Formats: sequence, C-alpha cells, structure tokens
Amino acid sequence: MLELDELIMDFGGFRAVNGCSFRVEKGSITGLIGPNGAGKTTLFNMIAGALRPTSGRIRFLGEDVTGLASHQLFHKGLVRTFQIPQEFHRLTALENLMMVPPSQPGERLFANWFGWGRVRAAEGDVERRAYETLEFLELTHVAHERAGNLSGGQKKLLELGRTMMTDAKLVLLDEPAAGVNRTLLRKLESKIEILNKERGYTFILIEHDMEMIEKLCAPVICMAEGTVLIEGDFQSVRCNPQVLEAYLGE
Ligand code: ADP
Repeated sequence: MLELDELIMDFGGFRAVNGCSFRVEKGSITGLIGPNGAGKTTLFNMIAGALRPTSGRIRFLGEDVTGLASHQLFHKGLVRTFQIPQEFHRLTALENLMMVPPSQPGERLFANWFGWGRVRAAEGDVERRAYETLEFLELTHVAHERAGNLSGGQKKLLELGRTMMTDAKLVLLDEPAAGVNRTLLRKLESKIEILNKERGYTFILIEHDMEMIEKLCAPVICMAEGTVLIEGDFQSVRCNPQVLEAYLGE
C-alpha cells in the first residue's frame, strides 16, 4: 500500500531522516517506535504531505505521491489524525464529526446540481454518518457535549472518528495512547482493531506505549538516528541488542 524509498529530510545542515526505506502492507497495523529524536515525526510529516522530502520517493497504492500536499493525499485516502483544533473545542462532539470535509471533491457539487432538497438530504446523511460513528465509538452520551469538555481519551476516540468520516484507506496515528487513561486505552485499542479487521483500514502508528504496540502492531519498525534499525515482530524487535542500545542512549 505504501512504499518509502531512501527518504531523506534535511533541516539546514541537520539530517533528521537519513535514507529511510520500508513498505507497509495493505491490512496491516505497522508500529513505528524508537527513542526521542529518531525521526519518527519527521517521517510521518513527509508521508502525510506536511513536509517535502529533501530526496527519496513515496508511493501510495502504486502511485508516486512524493511532494503532494496533505489535502491531495487526503482525497486519495491517506489521512493523518490531528489533535482537535482549538477553534473546534466549542463545537460539540457531533458537530466536530460533521465538520470533516467530504473526501470526494465532487460530492458537494453533485448536491448543488440537484437543488436544495438534495443538499439537505446530503446534510442529513452526514449527520447520520456522524451519529453512527459516535455509536461505534460508544460516545453517543457526549454527542452534544463541547469537545473541549471531553476527557483526553474521549478526544482521542473523537479524533479517530474524524478519520471515519472520510473514505480513509491508510491512517497515520501519532501517539494515540498519550494522555489516555487505562480504561479508555483498551477501548481505543479495540476500536482500532475493529477498523482494521472489519473495515479494512491500514494503520501506521507512532507509539511509546509498548503494551499497545505489542497488542496491535505487526510488523514493528524501530528507527534510530533517522534510519530503520530493524523491522520484525514485537518480540524480535524488543530483544534486539541494537534496539536496546538505542533506547539506553536516549
Ligand atoms: P521523533 O519523532 O522520533 O522524536 P523527530 O522527527 O521529532 O523525532 O526529530 C528528529 C530530529 O529532527 C530531532 O533531532 C529534532 O530536533 C530534529 N527536527 C525535527 N523537526 C525539525 C525542524 N523543523 N527543524 C530542525 N530540526 C528539526
């Protein structure tokens, strides 16, 4: 589904990502781990179109997408979750889901051709889909609560829900477990698993929570100093001496 070929990212004279190559198979949940400063976020930013690589290629579904902007990738089904923006904190959970733009640019135009009746029907569809998303996430009890009042874990679930409002194929999750209590963490894990197994989403996730990585991710890729140290199943990566050394040096 995704192929990274010798990606390099320089910030001035500093090489944050130094020749990174790997493939992500359709239907997998790939875990990206590594000590702070390894280049994981920079790599995510390149994949998601927030940073243009200094050199190297990115292919998504067989197409060269190197240097495309994030909105172009979004329309192709490559979506990155972001924290709910400050301005959206005053909107309710339901409204936050309804604010996600349609992933097919033609949808709105299509509705316009058929007049207001159709537009209203389309809005109804969005609301229904948003509500179904809240049901799936078990968040209907906070549907009309302002997003700013939700707990850390509920916000993470809502962020996941925002990707479900699109026709996402590959979802990049940046530290989904950060700031989430244990109970909601289990729920978040199970929702990611269902989206993967039953709805066909492919995921790449950056995570420091090794329990989550162990439960969800295969394969696991460990980065250090801008390159891939090792790729494999959780146990083999965890026990690799180079990986242990990289973490010790943190
Ligand atoms: P990780 O996510 O693995 O912790 P990052 O990708 O955030 O690593 O950072 C990798 C390295 O690149 C770090 O040394 C960081 O300081 C540096 N870096 C990241 N972004 C920038 C930037 N915009 N300008 C300069 N250096 C950066």
